[in-house]
Amino acid sequence: MEAPFTVAETREAVRSGRASSVEICRAALDRIAAADPGINAFRAVAAERALARAAQLDARGDRATLPLLGVPVAIKDNLCTRGIATTAGSRMLDGYLPPYDADVVERLESAGAVIIGKTNCDEFAMGSSTENSAYGPTRNPWALDRTPGGSSGGSAAAVAARMVPLSLGSDTGGSIRQPAALCGVVGFKPSYGRVSRYGLIAFASSLDQVGPFATTVMDAALAMDVLAGHDPRDSTSSPAPVPAFARALDESRGELKGVRIGVPRALFTDGVDAGVLAAFDAALDVSRACGAEIVDIALPYNAQAIPVYYIIATAEASANLARYDGVRYGFRAADARSVGEMYERSREGGFGREVKRRIILGTYVLSAGYYDAYYLKAQQVRTLIRRDYDAAFAGVDVIAMPTSPTPAFPLGERTGDPVRMYLSDVFTVSANLAGLPAVTVPCGFAAGRLPVGLQFTGRPMDDSGVLRVADAYERATSWSTERPDARPSSLSR
Ligand code: GLN
Repeated sequence: MEAPFTVAETREAVRSGRASSVEICRAALDRIAAADPGINAFRAVAAERALARAAQLDARGDRATLPLLGVPVAIKDNLCTRGIATTAGSRMLDGYLPPYDADVVERLESAGAVIIGKTNCDEFAMGSSTENSAYGPTRNPWALDRTPGGSSGGSAAAVAARMVPLSLGSDTGGSIRQPAALCGVVGFKPSYGRVSRYGLIAFASSLDQVGPFATTVMDAALAMDVLAGHDPRDSTSSPAPVPAFARALDESRGELKGVRIGVPRALFTDGVDAGVLAAFDAALDVSRACGAEIVDIALPYNAQAIPVYYIIATAEASANLARYDGVRYGFRAADARSVGEMYERSREGGFGREVKRRIILGTYVLSAGYYDAYYLKAQQVRTLIRRDYDAAFAGVDVIAMPTSPTPAFPLGERTGDPVRMYLSDVFTVSANLAGLPAVTVPCGFAAGRLPVGLQFTGRPMDDSGVLRVADAYERATSWSTERPDARPSSLSR
């Protein structure tokens, strides 16, 4: 029999006593030791802490009630973990040890999950390739000379290379969905407010959401059952009742009769890879065969989503990043002669190029002379984007789009051209601007056996609806069982 790997298999194996949490934890640590040197998905592996935690779980009597019992989880390095260094991919937070856990980390641990380590990401989650990490890029397990996507590239690669069955990322404009698509795994961005942002290092607070990466939609739903829920420590956390995510998938059994899927075809004209479009069209046929009706829709203001996002996200980032002054966290420049000089030099030396670019852009669009022309205008267009979605959702239940316009691109290809890098997010940023739930599920390959992702976006707070449609698609296909060929042979289980 194969060793348990998925979230569902792992918890069953541990609950029934076929495997111990310690055995599962050791197996994950072995896979990381074998595969990660070539991939660099992890910033830190907390082996001793994880093994001690697994041993504690094995000693407990109430195991059957823990929903993620023994499941090894990797956490993006912009989520605070008490006592485990948390850098957000920045030199600015070098050596920072958070004094508290993020809400999602607390929730995972109380559900019996074992935190294995922290994953690499673009600095302060700003990027689409993980190349903006101050600690070196992560490589795509499907093609080691290509990017895993970003900003949560380490979390995506760790699951794609089968190092861990579950990881967490954050998604401000696509940072869970785009890397999940490029690495051939499932990634879910919940509705804004569904998951607490407490302990997430802030990038753009009106857009940021935390969510899971997994190899199956069911595993993502099992994780959402634990992650979702109101948290009084996050003022934007929703008090709405939390649906039973995994149970809803069991009940619908892949049936899509009566479900209407909208397709905004006019958005896919320029710059979309032919292999991505072919996989997308084939995926629509599969959804149709499951009983769904495919409907043409228009989302005209989506064409403005990238400029709107890069004004609002940078404006919020410029405010959020003002706190890094060399005094309170991590890095401080040496030999400054005054307080002002210390601030200046710490920010100069602590932040990388992309982060500085965004602070400058964000400060500019908020400045007195330009606020109306840029920031205010962007907020108005954000409302129009939201209204486009509202109008579309009057006639359809979910909207399908490719997750990323291209498959994984070579490392270095876009680092010198920020606008080209920003265009990696054309199909993902609008869900954040409108606060909508969106999931990506593997839907085949483009040339060179590079994974392609299929994205479903849903109505506000209809997180269960998008997971259901993605799960039906996954059940009707076998893409989720494909694994990277380029993996080191020691990874086969
Ligand atoms: N790639 C986008 C950016 O660079 C989105 C990042 C994210 O979602 N954190 O801002």
